[in-house]
Amino acid sequence: PKSHASRVALVTGAASGIGKAIATRLAADGACVIIADLDLEKARDAAAALGSTDVAIGVQANVTSAAEIQAAIDAAVLAFGGLDLVVNNAGLSLSKPLLETTEGDWDLQHNVMAKGSFLVSKASAKVLIEQGMGGDIIYISSKNSVFAGPNNIAYSATKADQAHQVRLLAVELGEHGVKVNGINPDGVVRGSGIFSGGWGAKRAAVYGVSEDELGTYYAKRTILGREVLPENVANAVAVLTGADLSHTTGLHIPVDAGVAAA
Ligand code: NAD
Repeated sequence: PKSHASRVALVTGAASGIGKAIATRLAADGACVIIADLDLEKARDAAAALGSTDVAIGVQANVTSAAEIQAAIDAAVLAFGGLDLVVNNAGLSLSKPLLETTEGDWDLQHNVMAKGSFLVSKASAKVLIEQGMGGDIIYISSKNSVFAGPNNIAYSATKADQAHQVRLLAVELGEHGVKVNGINPDGVVRGSGIFSGGWGAKRAAVYGVSEDELGTYYAKRTILGREVLPENVANAVAVLTGADLSHTTGLHIPVDAGVAAA
């Protein structure tokens, strides 16, 4: 049984963007956080920004590797005495139309997001079940899990896979008190690494705006006219895993300023 007093949260891909904001919010709410990312140096920097190693640690873990995930979970249990909350956030978007999407593109997108989430959820659920104290698993899916994202078949299909993992695991883990919920963000440009390195430029070209204008462009097409920031997604994680939503599982919350409702 775990001995820690506060919650322990594992957030994958938390060295950047949405994951970093989630780790920051959970730590601010009193959780001890394990930041697991491909990039060890960035993971350690992000953890150090949250405080001492009593509060947050950064570890290298490629979510496509069961062994590296297990090592991250073992590090969490060793450092903080257990595990309560897991966020499947690690991801990337290649943003290619069908005829340009290679088998390698398809495999990479599905390995990181569909298989990676499966491996993280499986290894985490084992600990949560053994502890016998319930817990939360969150998937950072996407608006594209439900709606067609333009020129993004591999990304959107793997996000739909994640959405179904939420439903399946909500049913399977419910008897252990483990809640499984998803969040569907859209248009988080500022602070997001997946918009840099090419995707942002491609999206901007599709919409006929400059890359700098992309955040404002996305904001304008929402119902609320607001730009979605990483912190808005982090707030949804806090609510879904907080005491007030103790009876909610298998749900997907849009954090898109209304795009999916329009
Ligand atoms: P980001 O690039 O800023 O962060 C992604 C992080 O995941 C990076 O730190 C990266 O190193 C890490 N990562 C990538 N592959 C990994 C792997 N194999 N193992 C471990 N870590 C890995 O991007 P972001 O916008 O913060 O995206 C976070 C999540 O949110 C992704 O799953 C993305 O699909 C989802 N999402 C983002 C948006 C958006 O508008 N930005 C919209 C919907 C969904």
